[in-house]
Amino acid sequence: MKLESLAHRFRIDKPSSFKLSDIDPCDTAGLDIDKDEAKAMLKESIERLTQLQEMLYAQDRWAVLGIFQAMDAAGKDGAIKHVMSGVNPQGCQVYSFKTPTSHELDHDFLWRTTIAMPERGRIGIFNRSYYEEVLVVRVHPDILAKEKLPKKLVGKDIWKERFEDIRAFERYQARNGTLIMKFFLHVSKEEQARRFLERIDDPSKNWKFSQDDLAERAYWDDYMRCYEEAIRETSRPEAPWFVVPADRKWFARLVVASAMVDGMESLALHYPEVDAATRAGLKDARAVLAPQVPEVGNTGNGKNGNGKNGHPKDRKD
Ligand code: ATP
Ligand code: MG
Repeated sequence: MKLESLAHRFRIDKPSSFKLSDIDPCDTAGLDIDKDEAKAMLKESIERLTQLQEMLYAQDRWAVLGIFQAMDAAGKDGAIKHVMSGVNPQGCQVYSFKTPTSHELDHDFLWRTTIAMPERGRIGIFNRSYYEEVLVVRVHPDILAKEKLPKKLVGKDIWKERFEDIRAFERYQARNGTLIMKFFLHVSKEEQARRFLERIDDPSKNWKFSQDDLAERAYWDDYMRCYEEAIRETSRPEAPWFVVPADRKWFARLVVASAMVDGMESLALHYPEVDAATRAGLKDARAVLAPQVPEVGNTGNGKNGNGKNGHPKDRKD
């Protein structure tokens, strides 16, 4: 199976008719991690991502943003860790957005994430994002009440307005060279309970469990309604949502990795081209340096020497 087709299956291209119930959290597209095919696919996509990131960095034109949203224990952290495992840390920035601070609440709702947007040449990862503003804030009206917005600006259309602002923001970012891909890791309610139990039963995982997680679970249906509407209202060609089946962690990682590869391939990245003047400068620099390196200088042919001094890599120093 081609990696591209795997990611495409879960990309929401027809948002107006999207239903969360169309995606089965258990889906593995007929793949089995115990079979070599799935393992090879994951390895291959991570290697490809590493190559693409190098070109992204060298070219220094595009930026890439991956947004991760999910219910607790859906595997956001693990997916980010695995998918980005081969990537040069210098070219990657991960931000986790928690409950806003009072300083952050003194600004508009897109402020804290805007200043964390990836620079050109970088991959940025948002572990949660401004989407919380149409999810947790919508599920809990008291959070909205504490946002210090002028009263007359908080009307019945507030969510419609926020969707509009998010779409406009993402279109603006896309027009300025940021490739945005959004991932909803879709875990089932039953699998979440299983993972919570694991966190309770395994002492090394106790730190991952919070009573708040259990409280949020009680709002499951509200969250699902909000996620569905957010995805419908904001999945657009310039910033698509991928609804990723997440009951099988390995499968979720595979879908995320292939979507990232797909997206970055679409940028037609390449190493910066060297113009004639720079090439001439490289030649001059070579002429200065080569005599200072015995195995290169001795050959006198302008190529890496591999003659009587042995291969440079064979040296012991
Ligand atoms: P995570 O749950 O993402 O793995 P965590 O467990 O380490 O992270 P939490 O304390 O759960 O940390 O932090 C995330 C919490 O912050 C979530 O409950 C999330 O809904 C909340 N949050 C994030 N952004 C906002 C926001 N803009 N407004 C209100 N709450 C928010
Ligand atoms: Mg949490």
